[in-house]
Amino acid sequence: MKCIKCPSELRCKLSIATEETDLPVEISYQWWLCENCGAKYYATLEDSHVNMFDDRLLHKGFLADEVKWQKTLKWGMNCPDRQDKNCKCEVHQGVTSGGFSGEFAWYTND
Ligand SMILES: [Zn+2]
Ligand SMILES: [Zn+2]
Repeated sequence: MKCIKCPSELRCKLSIATEETDLPVEISYQWWLCENCGAKYYATLEDSHVNMFDDRLLHKGFLADEVKWQKTLKWGMNCPDRQDKNCKCEVHQGVTSGGFSGEFAWYTND
């Protein structure tokens, strides 16, 4: 992913993998950072596998507020096992797409 404020590549600082209990979709909540200009981003990566012929990845990025981003990143770091979709920690229980919104930075669907 590229920064929308400068030509640098972004780096993913944290990614929390989750699974919806009632939907065939896995969502990763991500915190991205531009190390060149300092821009912060939230992103969601949705992997929907409705059936074997319709496996799609939807990646949405949002420009984030600096202070909120830092705060939520610190909170997200509390998760002991970020790639475990069945992790029962506070972060896995509390993370929702509600906080992952704002001005679109990217939207890819492939
Ligand atoms: Zn940048
Ligand atoms: Zn967790």
